Amino acid sequence: MACPPLAVGLIGYPVEHSLSPAFQQAAFDALGIPARYELWPTPPESLDERFRSLRAPGVLGANVTVPHKRAAFARVDHVAGRARRAGAVNTVVNRGGTLYGDNTDVPGFLAPLRERGVPLADLAVVVLGAGGAARGILVALGEVGCRQVTVANRTAERAHELAVEFGVVAAPLDQRLAPHLARADLLVNATSVGWDGASLPLDAALLDALPATALVYDLTYHDTPLLQAARRRGLETIDGLGMLVHQGAESFRLWTGREPPLEVMWRVALAARQARERSTH
Ligand code: NAP
Repeated sequence: MACPPLAVGLIGYPVEHSLSPAFQQAAFDALGIPARYELWPTPPESLDERFRSLRAPGVLGANVTVPHKRAAFARVDHVAGRARRAGAVNTVVNRGGTLYGDNTDVPGFLAPLRERGVPLADLAVVVLGAGGAARGILVALGEVGCRQVTVANRTAERAHELAVEFGVVAAPLDQRLAPHLARADLLVNATSVGWDGASLPLDAALLDALPATALVYDLTYHDTPLLQAARRRGLETIDGLGMLVHQGAESFRLWTGREPPLEVMWRVALAARQARERSTH
């Protein structure tokens, strides 16, 4: 009798919009691993039950997304240091009934910068946002020892809290950010603004303060008005698809112990994004 496939999935609420099933399934298939990557929509009241189910034999683990990354923390047995520092778990690995939590957004964020040969230790960075993604980025920037990091957020108090916790500088998300931008090598949008294809997280005119050599990195995995405004000013840009693929590749490595087939994952993620864009326009 054939063994049932191994199970792995995405825990979130909602999860239907995700590109992860497409490129994760392609990775399992490419390596001939008999696993199925499923969507596991989980309302908060079902989270305990969902995590219990991850301990079953035949379950490799899960990815965790909005709104459960923080709640996942308390539901695993061991937490990796970077996940503890980020205050969020986005990957769970089931090892013989024991659950390990990690945060692969941290290396996932850095990977596209490394691919471009960006000298990470020398960077002055401005991060917009103070939510879960911004925390992961501050952990990543701390790991590589960036020269200077400024965080700016709509709710200034949250930026100040992060500044204290991570030993970085807080600045207001308005004209007073200009001197920080003038010194920046990298501007990162870690707010949730841009998905609508219309809004920017800051006044576009502030981009004029950036040096001509600055890079603008938006975690949104579509082309956003921020990236378009940056390109109009001749600035180099990176969207969030690379981070998404790389965080997924790190999760794959943790679940399987195998080298992820990055080229396959990239190709399928790009095609899935294109199909999504066609269906929404
Ligand atoms: P979150 O915890 O909900 O934080 C949202 C952030 O956006 C907060 O700082 C919030 O500011 C800010 N914000 C929301 N609406 C705003 C507005 N109208 N104007 C200015 N700021 C606003 O979300 P998250 O988990 O950090 O995710 C942030 C983004 O990163 C999302 O777009 C997510 O899809 C993306 N992301 C991408 C990847 C990837 O792999 N590419 C991975 C993780 C996250 P307040 O504090 O003032 O509310």
